[in-house]
Amino acid sequence: MTLFVKSFPVGPLQCNCSVVGCEETKEAVVIDPGGDVEKILELVKEQGFTVKYLLHTHAHFDHIMGSSKLKEKTGAKICLHEKDKFLYDNLKMQCGLFGFKAEDPTPTDLFLNDEEEVKIGKFNAKVIFTPGHTPGSLCFSVADQESILFAGDTLFNHSIGRTDLWGGSFEDIIDSIKGRLFTLDDSTRVVTGHGEDTKIWTEKRENPFVQ
Ligand SMILES: [Zn+2]
Ligand SMILES: [Zn+2]
Repeated sequence: MTLFVKSFPVGPLQCNCSVVGCEETKEAVVIDPGGDVEKILELVKEQGFTVKYLLHTHAHFDHIMGSSKLKEKTGAKICLHEKDKFLYDNLKMQCGLFGFKAEDPTPTDLFLNDEEEVKIGKFNAKVIFTPGHTPGSLCFSVADQESILFAGDTLFNHSIGRTDLWGGSFEDIIDSIKGRLFTLDDSTRVVTGHGEDTKIWTEKRENPFVQ
């Protein structure tokens, strides 16, 4: 059995969206559909996937702007941590402050909890609660031949997410990174919320925010 993973930047702030699917059952999830829904749908169709869940690392507007439309087109369930519900529900306000336009979003379907497993066909995505960038930030870890972490805006290549927006906490993000992400295997590939991939080992040694 094989895991399909493809990440690509979407939307106005080029948030990395990932399509993760089980090649055997053809069930898939989309992580952080922040826009460019047609592009996401094209890939899903090309792979013959059925999208079951839309997983959100957090509810900043640039990670949720395509969620309502993608749900409408696929029937997938909108999932996030309950502590980010206030951000999700205030999509219009968030967009307004950054100069973008949005409609009110479709309500969330499922709240995810720490250590919960989300089925992707024969694989599981493990939910890791990593507050700091937002109060309800999550990372998702999936393993096939290699382990992959979808880190959202918690951990970047040689950087970390900002903590000056609604409910952010520098202390919490550092605790989340050191206490949760740095306990993962060193070889874990990290798909970040924006920009280049990295590895846990690289960030342990070289990330200037967590030395
Ligand atoms: Zn963010
Ligand atoms: Zn972002």
